[in-house]
Amino acid sequence: HNEEAAAKAAASVADTGAPTIFDKIIAKEIPSDIIYEDENVLAFRDINPQAPVHVLVIPKLRDGLTTLGKAEPRHVEVLGQLLHASKIVAEKEGIFDGFRVVINNGVEACQSVYHLHLHVLGGRQMKWPPG
Ligand code: AMP
Repeated sequence: HNEEAAAKAAASVADTGAPTIFDKIIAKEIPSDIIYEDENVLAFRDINPQAPVHVLVIPKLRDGLTTLGKAEPRHVEVLGQLLHASKIVAEKEGIFDGFRVVINNGVEACQSVYHLHLHVLGGRQMKWPPG
C-alpha cells in the first residue's frame, strides 16, 4: 500500500516546465549536502535516501531537460557530464564495488521533480528487478 501511495503521489506531479525545488538548491537558497559540484553539474544527498548512499546528480542549467524524455542533440554534452559526475560521486562515496544509476522518467516511473536528475545509489546489496 505504501508503494501504491507513493506512485499516486508521484503521479500527481506533472511536467509543466514550472521551476522546481532544485532551482533553489542550485541557487543555494535552501540547504543541501553537496557531494560534488563543477561548472555544469551539482550532486547532493537525497533528502529521503533509499540506500546508505543516495545522491542526486543534476544539470545546473535545466535547458528544457525536465525529463530525460526531452533530450535533444544539444543536450548530449551535459548528459555525458552527468554520467561522468555520477562516477565521481561513486568514487567519493566509496561505493565503487557496486552502485546503481537511475533516472525516473515520467509519471509511470514515479518521477516527482521535473528537473532531470540521476540517482546514484549504493552501500547495500541492490535487488533486481527494481520495483
Ligand atoms: P524522482 O522521484 O526520481 O523525481 O526523485 C526526486 C528525488 O528528489 C526524490 O528522491 C526526493 O527524495 C528528492 N528530493 C526532493 N526534495 C529534495 C530536497 N530538498 N533535497 C534533496 N532531495 C530532495
